[in-house]
Amino acid sequence: MASSERDIWAPDEDPWTARAEGALYALGASYLYRVAEEVHLRLGLPFPQGAYLEALRLRPQAVAKGRGLSREEAMARAEELYERVLAGHERLPPARYRELAEAVTEKWYAEGRLETRAQRRSVAAYLLGMLRGGKRVGLGWRGLLGERERERLAYVAARGAEFIRKLKEATRQAVAKVLLLWHEEGGGQPKDLEGKLQEAFGGLARDWRRVAITEVAHARSSGYLAALPEGATVEWSAAKDACPRCRALHGRRFRVRHAPGDPREEVWPGKGWERGPTIPLHPHCRCRWIAVTQPVGEVDPEIEALAQAVIRAAER
Ligand SMILES: [Zn+2]
Repeated sequence: MASSERDIWAPDEDPWTARAEGALYALGASYLYRVAEEVHLRLGLPFPQGAYLEALRLRPQAVAKGRGLSREEAMARAEELYERVLAGHERLPPARYRELAEAVTEKWYAEGRLETRAQRRSVAAYLLGMLRGGKRVGLGWRGLLGERERERLAYVAARGAEFIRKLKEATRQAVAKVLLLWHEEGGGQPKDLEGKLQEAFGGLARDWRRVAITEVAHARSSGYLAALPEGATVEWSAAKDACPRCRALHGRRFRVRHAPGDPREEVWPGKGWERGPTIPLHPHCRCRWIAVTQPVGEVDPEIEALAQAVIRAAER
């Protein structure tokens, strides 16, 4: 299958891409962690920190800081909710669960400045693609790129913002769904609720990892093609564990255009897979373009330095 379960957690072979994927993934995963923690606290459930770090594949230091509930605040809410709901004395109106899901997901979205940071990471992936294509471009890209390229970067940034917003919405829905179902089924043990929440967050993290890989691949591939001269030839290099569709395209050559062209023979920055063969071909596609004229070997130290600066800025 195209978007198979083949190891989504393995980092990309290209160290720059691996860092870009890691940074975009960690942004969403750390958001999920914060939301999960606050949902637990507000419900008066113990928060299994270690289990969440493991399920979300997060290092403790990667968890974004922010103003969470104070301990007193959490305890006060916990007591109230625990007494009334979890201990089974009272049923809250279902709308309260939706409010909770909404409030917590919104709060951490704003707190973590998620949109701005997702945009920065998508732009970084594009710049890394350009650097792989041999273009000397770094954090000062605004002064270095033409209008068309700046517009493309604005598009890449807008996509990044859309995807992270989708994560927030999916999180809100998942939390509300778990709470409502639990309510509908008459409550039950707090332990059951904990298990259901953990399952939901694990699923969200896996979906986000796939999105992060695909978005980085899309931005990187666009940047790479944009860095090459119009008319250059690129060859499809299938990932080692590529799906049969991608494997069949391995070695096939395409002409680079800077604007949409013939979708069978040509590729251009931002070409979508619905338009014809392009990389990424599907979610979690790790194939890449290789310009046939590009010398292989050591990366120019100047380009490596620019890439490292772009990566560091994206990880902030
Ligand atoms: Zn592929």
